[in-house]
Amino acid sequence: MEKKLHTETLCIQAGYSPENGQPRQIPIIQSTTFKYATSEEMGKLFDLEASGYFYSRLQNPTCDMVAAKIAALEGGTAAMLTGSGQAANFYAMFNIASCGDHIVASSAIYGGTFNLIAVTMKRMGIDVTFVDPDCTEEELNAAFRANTKLVFGETIANPALTVLDIEKFAKVAHSHGVPLIIDNTFATPVNCRPFEWGADIVTHSTTKYMDGHGVAVGGCIVDSGKFDWTKYPDKFPGLCTPDDSYHGVTYTERFGLAGAFITKCTVQLMRDLGSIQSPQSAFYLNLGLESLPFRMKQHCANAQAIAEFLQENPKVAWVKYCGLKGDKYYELARKYMPNGSCGVISFGLKGGRQAAEVFMKHLKLGAIETHVADSRTCCLHPASATHRQMTDEQLDAAGVGADLIRLSCGLENAEDLIADLKQAIEQV
Ligand SMILES: *Cc1c(COP(=O)(O)O)cnc(C)c1O
Repeated sequence: MEKKLHTETLCIQAGYSPENGQPRQIPIIQSTTFKYATSEEMGKLFDLEASGYFYSRLQNPTCDMVAAKIAALEGGTAAMLTGSGQAANFYAMFNIASCGDHIVASSAIYGGTFNLIAVTMKRMGIDVTFVDPDCTEEELNAAFRANTKLVFGETIANPALTVLDIEKFAKVAHSHGVPLIIDNTFATPVNCRPFEWGADIVTHSTTKYMDGHGVAVGGCIVDSGKFDWTKYPDKFPGLCTPDDSYHGVTYTERFGLAGAFITKCTVQLMRDLGSIQSPQSAFYLNLGLESLPFRMKQHCANAQAIAEFLQENPKVAWVKYCGLKGDKYYELARKYMPNGSCGVISFGLKGGRQAAEVFMKHLKLGAIETHVADSRTCCLHPASATHRQMTDEQLDAAGVGADLIRLSCGLENAEDLIADLKQAIEQV
């Protein structure tokens, strides 16, 4: 029933339907543990024979209600909340790739995810081949090995702002018998639903637009339920063969394609590694989700107006925003995000690094932050902050030139924001 409803309605109503006399708003179940009358009843939970709550390190009702809302928004069959976007991406990948395996990932991804894959997962024995997000099908095919278990990319990359050709990546991943995992943080399901283009698993840093007010770090994993693990039992033994730690349960048999991935991720990875979202944070996240469609509209409209203003300003050297006609990703954005993309743009001033520093110092409304994607406009000059240890040559190679300014357009009035940018640019 939920699938036929529009995004605005799902953002308000999905995930929780109170009965007579129950709270109208999603309640915060602030409890670590849950009571049972007999050991036998509780034992069934540990054998995965019955579903229910027993300890909030694995599952909590508040988190599950909010996860169910996000699953409905993405059009998935199951979802889980995590303590951060980093945890969501790590769990989504580690649920199917382990020591001795290999993954293919777009090179244009969030710096934290790049480090997770290139350094930390490598230390765990998981190898990676990074591919250019604009690579051809042939180049993408060439990255696969016999032990490749998944492909990973971002709808709109943070901070490179490349747009991924999801359909192409899905097609190639499927031809090699592996799923495509898409981090949909910047577009949100309001602007792009990767499952409709062939993606199999979607992840989010809910810290960004979904929360949208800069109050709670969090993440989410959603499964489309469409990838048939049982066609490749040798590739995905964790899903297709018995798990001794649950008396020989086989996830695909017991929970079907709709539930196997998220159930395994919950009962193995959450059990052993922790990092679930707190019910309090899930409650804040839910408040953010209620207004997400309206906020995304305003973020995108502000970004569009600001990008157009910057493009016309004689002191601006270049502007990158996939909503601008002539942007390298304009056509891909039209295809995958016809109603708008996100509120983040990047640009450079004539005068490079020094000009960027002067400009940032004079901004009054836009604050200097490492954060993006919340209600307050903020900006970052990576060369003097997050990437300051790099030389200019290294910055160019990373696609983050010394002059690059990343601007996350908030929900303020566009005229006020443009006036602020204008006076700061005039100081250069
Ligand atoms: C911020 C971000 C992450 C990491 O999320 P946290 O909630 O900070 O752990 C992952 N992917 C993308 C695209 C992000 O922007």
